[in-house]
Amino acid sequence: MVKGYAIGKAAIMSAAALEVAHYRIAPEEVAGECKRLKNALITARDELKVMASTLPDDAPRELGPLLTVHSLLLDDPMLSEQSCDLILERHYNAEWALTTQGQLLVEQFSMMEDEYLRERGADIRQVIERVLRVLSGSTALLPDLDAGDSNDPLIVVARDISPADMLRLRGARFAAFLTDLGGPTSHTAIVARSMNVPAIVGLGHIRMLVRDGDVLIVDGFTGVVLVNPSEQVLQEYRDRQTLYAEERAQLALLRDAPAVTLDGIHIRLEANIELPEEALAAMQAGADGIGLFRSEFLFMGRRDLPTEEEQYEAYSSVVKAMEGRPVTIRTLDLGADKTLDGDITVATNPALGLRAIRYCLANPEIFVTQLRALLRASLHGHVRILIPMISHMHEVHATRLAIERACSELEVAGIPYARNISLGAMVEIPAIAIAIEPFVETLDFLSIGTNDLIQYTLAIDRGDSEVADLYDPMHPAVLRLIAHTINAAERAGKPVAVCGEIAGDSRVTRMLLGLGLTEFSMHPQQLLDVKKEVRQAHSNALRVKVASALNRAERIDLASLSN
Ligand code: PEP
Ligand code: MG
Repeated sequence: MVKGYAIGKAAIMSAAALEVAHYRIAPEEVAGECKRLKNALITARDELKVMASTLPDDAPRELGPLLTVHSLLLDDPMLSEQSCDLILERHYNAEWALTTQGQLLVEQFSMMEDEYLRERGADIRQVIERVLRVLSGSTALLPDLDAGDSNDPLIVVARDISPADMLRLRGARFAAFLTDLGGPTSHTAIVARSMNVPAIVGLGHIRMLVRDGDVLIVDGFTGVVLVNPSEQVLQEYRDRQTLYAEERAQLALLRDAPAVTLDGIHIRLEANIELPEEALAAMQAGADGIGLFRSEFLFMGRRDLPTEEEQYEAYSSVVKAMEGRPVTIRTLDLGADKTLDGDITVATNPALGLRAIRYCLANPEIFVTQLRALLRASLHGHVRILIPMISHMHEVHATRLAIERACSELEVAGIPYARNISLGAMVEIPAIAIAIEPFVETLDFLSIGTNDLIQYTLAIDRGDSEVADLYDPMHPAVLRLIAHTINAAERAGKPVAVCGEIAGDSRVTRMLLGLGLTEFSMHPQQLLDVKKEVRQAHSNALRVKVASALNRAERIDLASLSN
């Protein structure tokens, strides 16, 4: 879901795959049918390549790589050769052969354990949709809705929206996107978020329930869509829209205001980013630094590994953009829900397997290359190295040895780098939160990754919707682990942050202040909401209330924490 309200007219996007004709062709037409299919694949691929190379300057930054991935899929023999085999052996028409082969590939993806790869089945579906449109000779994406009639913005209702379609839709006036397919990491959601347009994905059957031209209200906060609402309801949502816009404008005024509680405690508010370009959004939100740069996103969605030079450029660009503010770069956190493309070996339980620092220590060449890039980038500002998924002290020692190796390699090669870089660890595994003291002593800083800490404490897979209701950030056991970590760091005078999703949830800001937290790291868009809460809170009073509930291992009643 992408937050926000939208009111507009439904425009249903055609789904060629649903309307495809199935017929058998005569044996003498087989060769010609294969050629027709191959030509359509080439045309669709070339269109995507052209789009990728002629992107307008203001296109969302994800589009280029996504279009390239789609054009590569069209080159894949699994799609073209095997579809042609269906034409040759079963005499299917080109459209039928392509959708049959595509369905097979989508099913293979859907059985993968990895959520990211599972969702990549959507890419196959989208490229097939494109080829089908080439085969049918039709290029219209949306119905022509009496354009002269009103200025109502359009709400695109689609089975799924490919990145290439997104690009074609950009010229029109869009208020929101609704799709039947897709999940939180689907491209529609990612691109909609970066275009700042409300979106609800994975609705199931929205295309069956809505007709072209219906008036829709999209509530991107609750995931609700209202079809042809009454004038009274429309007015209610227009009022909500206005109020929300006013709130955002008010919040924007807080950008340069200090994040200080009513009792004078200074709170650091930093940003989580996944790609270097997002440093700009962090600066625009007034972030005190980058609390978490998930470096693995530089490694994902490609077939090769980024070189030291590429990584150095990426890290340096963030460091420079942040103009002296600290930039905390987490070393590669691959495994579980994040894997290198093509690397689909699934461990028995990937969340408990060779992920994050375990993966890096097992692949020293990859790790040391990244460390060299980090050490070099830190010449341009203040870099802090953050290690994910630490559970043992020997992993900290091994990391230090790897850093020493990276330093001496740079030394020998005469490449300049910064010495004495700070080293911190993510607190994501209950074991280290419980026995945190020696880690606090050894490391320069800590960052609590509540997303994983909750998953491992409660034995709830964070990506499994079947148990999502049990994923409970407010569980007293989770809060005790966070409190214990913060207290130990406070005693040792070492900085500690929370960089999991709860740090950006303004509904729990007071609770985190009550746990003694003074550093929060979150998506840049959430920063001002959290700052507003901080400025209205009385930190010491909250500490007393939260400590007494935690002593009794009681659930904390958030309402009791308001002033
Ligand atoms: C976390 O686990 O809380 C965290 C910030 O890391 P990620 O979400 O990338 O696993
Ligand atoms: Mg994590």
